[in-house]
Amino acid sequence: MTESTQKINLLGFSPKKLEEFFVSIGEKPFRSTQVLKWIHQFGASSFDEMTNISKALRQKLSEVSEIREPEVLVQNISKDGTRKWVIQLDGGSAVEAVLIPENGRATLCISSQIGCSLDCSFCSTGKQGFNRNLSAAEVIGQVRVAIRSFGPFDPNGDRRVTNVVLMGMGEPLMNFDNVVDAIQLMMDDNAYGLSKRRVTLSTAGVVPQIDKLSEVTDVSLAISLHAPTDELRDQLVPINKRYPIAELVDACNRYMASLKDKRVITVEYTLIAGVNDHPSQAKQLVKLLKRLPCKLNLIPFNPFPNSDYRRPSEDAIQAFKMIMVKAGIVTTVRRTRGDDVDAACGQLVGQVMDRTRRSEKYIPLKDASGVQQEPPR
Ligand code: SAH
Repeated sequence: MTESTQKINLLGFSPKKLEEFFVSIGEKPFRSTQVLKWIHQFGASSFDEMTNISKALRQKLSEVSEIREPEVLVQNISKDGTRKWVIQLDGGSAVEAVLIPENGRATLCISSQIGCSLDCSFCSTGKQGFNRNLSAAEVIGQVRVAIRSFGPFDPNGDRRVTNVVLMGMGEPLMNFDNVVDAIQLMMDDNAYGLSKRRVTLSTAGVVPQIDKLSEVTDVSLAISLHAPTDELRDQLVPINKRYPIAELVDACNRYMASLKDKRVITVEYTLIAGVNDHPSQAKQLVKLLKRLPCKLNLIPFNPFPNSDYRRPSEDAIQAFKMIMVKAGIVTTVRRTRGDDVDAACGQLVGQVMDRTRRSEKYIPLKDASGVQQEPPR
């Protein structure tokens, strides 16, 4: 490989780690703030661009380190403004990121792992097995790629990506350290400066990691619930067998209590015909959600190859929604966007080279394409 593989990639260094790096090479800590701004506010990819840094230091930095972004394989821009990137990663796999503009916002949905180990029954990412965690550089790299797609960076405050959600491929809390580093960059004023209300981490419910998260950040939280009872959730979201609903709800409440401001958790509920969309299940869900400060996001199931699940009828979706609304729960239905670039939930095509070989149990490997990813509202 090229020499770049030996160099330290500074792209994913959190502000604190970058400072430690500068100290470790005998430089003043404040230099790291300058470099942080160059990388994340000016979009610099080489040290030569960093004109307020001495030539000698630039030379020294380029000898030991680099700023390396993952490679964009494909970029698609939809008629409705949705943008989608297929991002090539070392090792031959690919993940996808999607940007959805809406009502003056632009929400970027990014991936945290190649594949996923949690194996939720309705999610095609899970069916493809797990390959590896993304590095912090690969996570934050998706944000840089999205911003740059609009042209040169605007250091005076970039508003081209206003919100970020970790709802793409993977379980962010199973890639804890790298995801936290990337989140800290998203929320740091010397980097992307997004408010904690505009960065959302979505989890299937890795309870101990939710507690750990509250110790290091105050990012907004979404949980993938999908069922009102343990009996059903055990089937849809297997990690429920380890951390059942009551424990998840308690962990969410502890997380919310740890925040200094008042916020709600986003509860995601993929509606699947005949599985979790019955009015009686809506009523059970009402009872459950009364125990949590939350808003509900209903996501009509998006089919993918080799899945027997179906999307409920529009009437069933509306009926479910009305039960929630009448019970006083703020509820939205996520609508498909970016149809002409295949950016809808469940239509994105990443590539996972499964290391667990679990996917063979479900689908022949030759059909193992069509990674589900989540364009949120
Ligand atoms: N592992 C994390 C992040 C992945 S995003 C988590 O579970 O939250 C997961 C979201 O994608 C789920 O909440 C679900 O709403 C959505 N999803 C997965 N498969 C889907 C499908 N086939 N159709 C519609 N939404 C799906």
